[in-house]
Amino acid sequence: MPFKDPAKRREYCRKHYLENKDRIYAYRKKYFLEHPDKYKEHLECCRARNSRYYSNHREKLGEKRRIRYHSDRQKHIASVKKYAKANRAKISIYMTNYCQRNREKYRNYAKKYYYCGGGRAWYTTRRHNKRAGLHNIDGSGISVSDWNELMNLYGYRCAYCNRELSLTMDHVVPLRHNGQHTLDNIVPSCKHCNSSKGTKSLLQYLIHQKETGDYFR
Ligand SMILES: [Zn+2]
Repeated sequence: MPFKDPAKRREYCRKHYLENKDRIYAYRKKYFLEHPDKYKEHLECCRARNSRYYSNHREKLGEKRRIRYHSDRQKHIASVKKYAKANRAKISIYMTNYCQRNREKYRNYAKKYYYCGGGRAWYTTRRHNKRAGLHNIDGSGISVSDWNELMNLYGYRCAYCNRELSLTMDHVVPLRHNGQHTLDNIVPSCKHCNSSKGTKSLLQYLIHQKETGDYFR
């Protein structure tokens, strides 16, 4: 090392690294492939160093992130979406582990989110999309904005009894009778009408209403 002064030494190392980046990466890769235990050690060391740096500079890093986010919000959202799409399985495993580790914290957060503006619509779409996915039902899934638009179309009222209650998604042709999980087969319905309709077709449900007087109006 030609320099005793740490600042100069750092500068020299940086310059050397930038000039020989590819060679250094190739060497490192080869070394770590040949010595997996060393790679594990190196990874743990890096993680500890990053976590130490993060906790010592939490404020500074937070501010930096906030500035970057507000300078180009759309770009940030697009990049997060792109990453989420490419790493769906990885994120799902991470989230499951995180929720198990922080059960109470997650529960409180979920509760708070559910009662805020868009939380309820998000949970409804997620629950129904998941259910349709589990049963291999056709349909690309309903987005939160689709569901909000549909509820808006019906004036945030139940399509069957016209009451202004908490709404769920009802499949006009039930999923069990090969109905699709698509917008043209979904109407907002209150819990009472939804469970009362069950797996009946629309005609069967109207007959049922007439016979039982169960109009719920
Ligand atoms: Zn209803």
